[in-house]
Amino acid sequence: MSFSQRVFCGQVTPEDIGRNVQLCGWVDAYRDHGGLLFIHLRDRSGIMQIVFSPEIASADLCRKAASLRTEYCIAVVGDVKKRMAGTENPNIETGNIEVMVTQLTVLSESDALPFAVSDKAMVAGASTAGADNVAEDLRLQYRYLDIRRPQVRDNLMARHRIFQCVREFLNSRGFVEIETPVLTASTPEGARDYLVPSRVHPQNFYALPQSPQLFKQLLMFGGMERYFQMARCFRDEDLRPNRQPEFTQLDIEASFVDEEFLYELIEELTVKMFAVGGIELSRPFPRMTYGEAMDTTGSDRPDLRFGLKFVDVTDVFSKTNYSIFRQILQRGGCIKGINIKGQSEKLSKNVLQNEYAKEIVPSFGARGMTWMRAEGGKLESNIVQFFNSEELETLWKKFDVTDGDVLIMIADSSYSVVTSVLGQLRLHLANRLGLIDENCFYPVWITEFPLFEPKEEGGVTSSHHPFTAPDRVDFDPKNIEELLSLRSRAYDLVMNGEELGGGSIRINNRDVQRKIFAALGLNEEEMREKFGFFLRAFDFGAPPHGGLALGMDRTVSMILRTPSIRDVIAFPKNRSASCPLTGAPSAVKREQLAELGLLNLGGQDVLPGTAEKENKVDHLSWVSRIGIAAQERPVIEEILAEAEELALIAFQKAGKEEPLFTVVPVSNRTRPGTEEKRSELAQKGQLLKSAPSVKGNYFKVASILE
Ligand code: ASP
Repeated sequence: MSFSQRVFCGQVTPEDIGRNVQLCGWVDAYRDHGGLLFIHLRDRSGIMQIVFSPEIASADLCRKAASLRTEYCIAVVGDVKKRMAGTENPNIETGNIEVMVTQLTVLSESDALPFAVSDKAMVAGASTAGADNVAEDLRLQYRYLDIRRPQVRDNLMARHRIFQCVREFLNSRGFVEIETPVLTASTPEGARDYLVPSRVHPQNFYALPQSPQLFKQLLMFGGMERYFQMARCFRDEDLRPNRQPEFTQLDIEASFVDEEFLYELIEELTVKMFAVGGIELSRPFPRMTYGEAMDTTGSDRPDLRFGLKFVDVTDVFSKTNYSIFRQILQRGGCIKGINIKGQSEKLSKNVLQNEYAKEIVPSFGARGMTWMRAEGGKLESNIVQFFNSEELETLWKKFDVTDGDVLIMIADSSYSVVTSVLGQLRLHLANRLGLIDENCFYPVWITEFPLFEPKEEGGVTSSHHPFTAPDRVDFDPKNIEELLSLRSRAYDLVMNGEELGGGSIRINNRDVQRKIFAALGLNEEEMREKFGFFLRAFDFGAPPHGGLALGMDRTVSMILRTPSIRDVIAFPKNRSASCPLTGAPSAVKREQLAELGLLNLGGQDVLPGTAEKENKVDHLSWVSRIGIAAQERPVIEEILAEAEELALIAFQKAGKEEPLFTVVPVSNRTRPGTEEKRSELAQKGQLLKSAPSVKGNYFKVASILE
């Protein structure tokens, strides 16, 4: 059958009335009116009502049509007609027209469905089964059916439009889309790697990229200047509801730029992406330092759609008689609080004391909290009598209190306990009291992060990754206190309490990069082993550069306001990181493990690593410029092992006996001062006697082609 005349259901309009069209798609729903059969035919573009009427269609055709069931895949030909007055369906875009079928081809039948696909009633006002309450795992198991559902389909189409908008914009700004490898070595982004065993290099592994960080920097070293990629990244992290083991990030890097260039670029791009979803963002995006964000919201990804910012009231109580506060302050602690404006009706004494102070706040990690309610121009609480009037008046002013307000304060000897608990409380209250405007989108750049974080076991770890430029370079890599005081040139783009992305200006100086590695506790050998290739690239004119990555699944999900990022990914993993459709991750057969050299590992910490052996073969292959096939490797390994044995014997003899023969005069270069010698054989001219062609002390060898 030919599809050349096919038109999309959603694209037929009243202007086509009278036209003969071919439509293809799936039976969304059907309604039999005693001989007159109405079908909603659905394709990617929408729905068209098709009609099998005995007045127009043959008896045969009508019989065939009666056997159609939902999700049969069919093609029909017929004339477009205006619907009779009163039978229009405003719920579908083509609700004023229908197609009177004269030809039907069943392209493929369908089994009974595991859940309903259709979400449009054939008759205005009627309801459909809908699949919204179907267990997600069932939907994911039959994801191809789920994708037929207009909601999922629309999400994927919108994702495509957002990706197109990114590509067009970045192209217009001179960015080039370049792919980097997926089978690679590990890049430190702070998560665990997914490893991929190699069969041709048994017991050796590739790592799937946590990000293309090193490659994008190498592209800058390679002079590509402006790069982007819709990069698939893989991080083996603990399960969290809105996290996927693989995700797509828009990865960007540019040379000869500073922070301002990137802020401007990303703001313009973000505005464009959100506009695809009809969301207007205004520029410039506000900026907040990490310190300010922590001080006022307890989070480095603050949700700024509502107030409830922290007020520091440590000073107010510097001379207090209230013993709990006094003891905390004596231990160097702090006191911060929030003013929940005008909510005293919803936050009664009972709620504050029995729910918040006794249950909620302790579950957030604090020992207790202090609450006060403003009534009749005064602050009231169960402990208000312990504070003097000056303290209460200063609180009133500092929190800008009016009657009906509720104050909650957290005091602790640890700054991080205070900010973390108050931060959780801030979000809890905002949700409970309905303070969040769901139509508000509040972007903010977070800047001036600490370069390092302390590690539990001592030492430091990078807050972002080790390639982030520090704010100054004159630090001592062994001085932990100094390291922890360094700020980075990193920035995160945060929206509504979610980190959409982040990046940094990078280090482009070898010594600074080495200093950072040293600060992270890497010794020379580890640096060479892990990052030798990368450090070497700094030796050849590394340009200043910087970039960032935006989590596209998260961004698209926010633009489309879906409850989960799974809603905007074609084939996502479920909450437990498995795929109900394919069954991944799944067990593998013994033979497969054996083939990969992964059986009988004997409980060793490090795999025997043919690595060392392999490297020798690779090295040999490299110096000789001869490719070595997998089946040749064992033989060469054997020869190498024998040669090593011989070399060992030779070494043992060294010093006692002369080298057996040599063509040119040789000396031991590792022992300066030893005399140059020439082998006897060479001296007598015998060595080169049978060589096909000789030049001086050399004999010619065949040239080798790579
Ligand atoms: N590689 C970083 C990440 O994936 C982003 C960047 O620094 O550009 O988080």
